[in-house]
Amino acid sequence: METIQYNLPQDRIPRVWYNILPDLPSPLAPPLHPGTHQPLGPEDLAPLFPMSLILQEVSAEREIEIPEEVRQIYAQWRPSPLIRARRLEKALDTPAHIYYKYEGVSPAGSHKLNTAVPQAFYNKKAGTKRLSTETGAGQWGSALSMACSFLGLECKVYMVRVSYDQKPYRRALMEAFGASVTASPSTETESGRAILAEHPNSNGSLGIAISEAVEVAAKDPNTKYALGSVLNHVLLHQTVIGQEAIEQMALAGDEPDVIIGCTGGGSNFAGLVMPYLGRKIKGQCQARVVAVEPAACPSLTKGRFTYDFGDTAHLTPLVKMHTLGSTFIPPGIHAGGLRYHGMAPLVSHVLDLGLAEAVTVQQLDAFAAGIQFARAEGIIPAPEANHAVAQAIAEALRARAEGKPRTILFNLSGHGYFDMQSYIAYHAGTLENYEYPEEEIAMALAGLPSVE
Ligand SMILES: *Cc1c(COP(=O)(O)O)cnc(C)c1O
Repeated sequence: METIQYNLPQDRIPRVWYNILPDLPSPLAPPLHPGTHQPLGPEDLAPLFPMSLILQEVSAEREIEIPEEVRQIYAQWRPSPLIRARRLEKALDTPAHIYYKYEGVSPAGSHKLNTAVPQAFYNKKAGTKRLSTETGAGQWGSALSMACSFLGLECKVYMVRVSYDQKPYRRALMEAFGASVTASPSTETESGRAILAEHPNSNGSLGIAISEAVEVAAKDPNTKYALGSVLNHVLLHQTVIGQEAIEQMALAGDEPDVIIGCTGGGSNFAGLVMPYLGRKIKGQCQARVVAVEPAACPSLTKGRFTYDFGDTAHLTPLVKMHTLGSTFIPPGIHAGGLRYHGMAPLVSHVLDLGLAEAVTVQQLDAFAAGIQFARAEGIIPAPEANHAVAQAIAEALRARAEGKPRTILFNLSGHGYFDMQSYIAYHAGTLENYEYPEEEIAMALAGLPSVE
């Protein structure tokens, strides 16, 4: 029988998270204080995060031990499966080998639980009572609500308006785990009220929802803030994905020639690729590494690599990243998790170093690829993950055209069973492509803070 799944036993759940920072040829640019433009100290972040996570954010240690309590919760769905997409290979009539690491097996339905659990864990240990956060598509909100319920914390979620309306089941899921969910922009915060005063029908954006969640945490000593992507410690927690994949690819007796992930804030991509990039830096891996972003929100391919705010109301530190400008509000594509104006500083940096490349995919092409994948593999991908699927299929078709074998590995970051409304729209023909919103991005870029 042909092997399809490469599974690891539970005791192979990684014991450490892999921090690529000490292995990089040059350091990350430091985050800056939004007022003084001086490098941030750990105490500047203390109102928002517990010190344990702040120290992980700036750590120079290559390996950071995963607490046993966190590994115990990981054991419910980790190690996640590595699957060889043999039926998709046949459907594409390609000599390529296609593998996907499937993170949709987590009870929250995506990779996001990999960081939600440790974030809730460290907060609980530090005495936090409540976590506030934003969510785009609802994946991160679901994961954090679940983690808070496991660890006995309250959870407050600001959900981007367009997703709140498109994805009522996501909201129901968060509420089932005990979270309080509010559509953003809301009237509950100063940042939300300011946006509504100018744009009463605002679709919202991740940047706006972050402002609301940060504001709430900054004003309440019992509430801390949790972010589902972008920050170093979040990307760090996701490296369990790539560490497992390396072992599983060895079981399969294959080495990837190309490694692919979709990028919103960069966390599922980083989770899969950073352990491989650590090897690439040491000359132990030759794979091309490809980040895939939506054409409607192309921070890596069209953004500027410079200091910008992480949110719309400019409450967060300044970080050096690929950005479309913090005031840019991306079109309402269904891949809500990819609607962010910036990109993780770490992902931006490895792209700048030439260790990775970036491409864009249009919404309709992403859904067409997702359908093709579903018909062959039986899994409906999350709209975000469809971008990675589209690139994996493109690579497989290129291998066929060139008549060359190629081993493709991609991250199937989550399932799409709460996103069926977007598939309904796709089948009804009402889903559309958005052209690159050139003018609005130019305007947002003109408003970048001047640093240096
Ligand atoms: C949130 C999300 C993304 C995008 O966020 P990253 O931090 O770039 O990974 C991608 N896929 C799924 C399934 C998500 O939930």
